[in-house]
Amino acid sequence: MYTGADAQSAFLALRNQLGGGPGPKIISRKEWGAKSPILGGGRSYEKLSPNMKMFGAFDVPVGGVPIDLAKYYNTITVHHSGNGDNYMSIQELQEKEQNDGYADIPYHFAIDSKGNIYEGRPIDVKGSHVKGGNTGNIGIVLLSDLDTENKGLGYVNSIVESLRGNGGASTAMRQSLTDLVSHLNGKYGIQYLGGHKEKATDPRNCPGNGGMKIVEYLRNKLHMLSPKNEN
Ligand SMILES: [Zn+2]
Repeated sequence: MYTGADAQSAFLALRNQLGGGPGPKIISRKEWGAKSPILGGGRSYEKLSPNMKMFGAFDVPVGGVPIDLAKYYNTITVHHSGNGDNYMSIQELQEKEQNDGYADIPYHFAIDSKGNIYEGRPIDVKGSHVKGGNTGNIGIVLLSDLDTENKGLGYVNSIVESLRGNGGASTAMRQSLTDLVSHLNGKYGIQYLGGHKEKATDPRNCPGNGGMKIVEYLRNKLHMLSPKNEN
């Protein structure tokens, strides 16, 4: 008889066999003109296969053993950019995060209101998006303010954010998140899907009440588990 965990792993194995395919269009760092990461000074930028070197135009790996990302990743965490800004560009995001002391964009992917999917930090670099919870965890940020309640901001800041505007995710943004999560599922066999605040205590209520609704919907649709079930 299958227990819940066995059924889940059988399902994952099947999904991995069926998975793959080209997936949604992801705009590469090169295509969107990413700046280089800023290293040193306590900025976290951990390569998951530290001895790997890439060679030539097709990035042929030489030396070192590449980490098996399908074994490494088991979780996807969804964030929003917040701060009353529904139209932040990927370039603005990188600028902001590097100014805030990050080596690079802390997330692996970003999705804008038009549904464009951008490569954030490379997938073979450990994320830096959940305090104390980045191992095995792919970060996706929705470039929008999805918190219409502004809980936990304090009175003045919540008034400021309401005036600047916040809203729900656009249809294109939702569709791209669905496509991206499905694709990552097929590719890496991801078991857990959560919003940032489910992985950590976050006074900013990331990814907002609107973002959490999408996460819950996707969890159901894609038969994934809450990170609260993780042990
Ligand atoms: Zn977050």
